[in-house]
Amino acid sequence: MYHNVGEKGRRLNVSPQGLERQCRMLEWLRFRVMPLRELAEHLPHQRLPRRTAVFTFDDALLGVYEYALPILSRHGWTGTVFAVSQRLGGETDWTEDYRHRVMSREHLLILHQAGWEVGAHTLTHPYLTHLPPDDARREIEQCRCELEELTGAGVISFCYPYGDCNDAVVQMVREAGYQAACTVRKGLVGLQDNPFTLPRVHVAYSDGATGLLYRLWRAWRRTR
Ligand SMILES: [Zn+2]
Repeated sequence: MYHNVGEKGRRLNVSPQGLERQCRMLEWLRFRVMPLRELAEHLPHQRLPRRTAVFTFDDALLGVYEYALPILSRHGWTGTVFAVSQRLGGETDWTEDYRHRVMSREHLLILHQAGWEVGAHTLTHPYLTHLPPDDARREIEQCRCELEELTGAGVISFCYPYGDCNDAVVQMVREAGYQAACTVRKGLVGLQDNPFTLPRVHVAYSDGATGLLYRLWRAWRRTR
């Protein structure tokens, strides 16, 4: 799980050099990298390809366009970006420490055309469990419609803002037609996982290749 990529050591950033080293390490370990939508296709059939990694970037922040797109492209890989559809071209008004610039609609389209997956992260990044059900449903459904209109492609992946979800919210995501959803729960995806509450491995600014390797190892230990 990534948010932004940038030179400054802000809480949601990973440095471009760190991301590059992580890519090289995954390549050296012969990982396959795919967008979440491809991994999600395997889950209902109870089979998962071995050594597979999915790069997810929450909030569609500008540094992902500036740094992660060229870095992953050099390795022939694409990622999944979760967009807050009514904040495109603006700033994050949900982060406390620092306001990150959000990609514009044009940036998101370029990512989509480069083969990246555009997933949904609601209209305005609320705590979904705090909203009246009709409002939560609207955040989940309308975001999908807006992103599908923008890219002209189906949107099947969702990500809960702040990882905030309960049974009712998970059910709404399922009913809205998504096929997979990410939380902020730490771990590796396994066949025992519900496709609508997938865990992830968190990556921090100071993580280079060894930092990510350690986190993967720790997550692997936890799931055994
Ligand atoms: Zn977010």
